[in-house]
Amino acid sequence: MRRTGLVYDEQYLGHRPGEWHPERPARLEAIIQRLQDTGLMEELTLIRPYQAPVSWVEKLHDPDYIKRFQTACQKGYTIFGVPDCGICPESFDIALLAVGGVFAAVDNIMSGTVDNAFCAVRPPGHHAEHNRALGFCFFNNIALGAVYILENYGLERVAIVDWDVHHGNGTQHFFESDPRVFYLSLHEDPDSCYPGTGRRQEEGSGRGKGFTLNIPLPGGSGDEDYLKALEQEGLPRLREFAPQFVLISAGFDAHEDDPLAHQNLTRQAYKKMGAMVLQLALDHAEGRLISVLEGGYSLTVLANCVEDHLRLLLGND
Ligand SMILES: [Zn+2]
Repeated sequence: MRRTGLVYDEQYLGHRPGEWHPERPARLEAIIQRLQDTGLMEELTLIRPYQAPVSWVEKLHDPDYIKRFQTACQKGYTIFGVPDCGICPESFDIALLAVGGVFAAVDNIMSGTVDNAFCAVRPPGHHAEHNRALGFCFFNNIALGAVYILENYGLERVAIVDWDVHHGNGTQHFFESDPRVFYLSLHEDPDSCYPGTGRRQEEGSGRGKGFTLNIPLPGGSGDEDYLKALEQEGLPRLREFAPQFVLISAGFDAHEDDPLAHQNLTRQAYKKMGAMVLQLALDHAEGRLISVLEGGYSLTVLANCVEDHLRLLLGND
């Protein structure tokens, strides 16, 4: 058995992007309900998040953008930047708490309190750019987590595996010229799916060339396609990189029942992808692994897949 942390706080339910919005508080409620119903919650170490200091958020996001987001919330605006980025007065503080949730997970792993962790946070982060909110995201939780690992703890190589069905444009852009972060994304083909980035030829630039690997998969792809892509192409490159810390942008929206995309993964595929990435962390990174929730809009799929993933992290699957 491993010690697995769960980052969660009821405050995350307070981000209300609009009644119509698929990225709704019920997503986390479904996850927490399942962990309680199965007794899994008692096996996990609850990690309380803190609000990330703005000085850390400024390491990737434009100070003026941060200010504009804060002001929009204070003024009671209901959207920020683009129509799909719905906000409420609490959204700014909660977005800082989502970033700080990843930081708290890093702290707990680096101090040895837990071996790995899952961050049940919202709003999600991987579409958030330097000075733009996009695709339900405001601050890039996982990218800031990587910077925190590198700069606060002095590690030199962090791998980010992004299996959300959408390409993590923000994460890629932050690190495309940075050889300290290897960004691997498996996502639905940009021609048929938001946000339209993540083509094969985007493979980093300057000193970061070769440290970005995009594997777009056509709509309708299933378990075998994803597992083959990860096992035969993604993992060999990650092993060559030899990360000291592994992060997963864990979206569960490539599932066949997800309402927002067109892929056909089953619960089994997520289980197997999780096992492969965990093995990478065990072999190269002393088991240091943090999964950060991104998308996933079917409540049943979320509960199923997160339950499986946590059992895997604990080693009791
Ligand atoms: Zn997504």
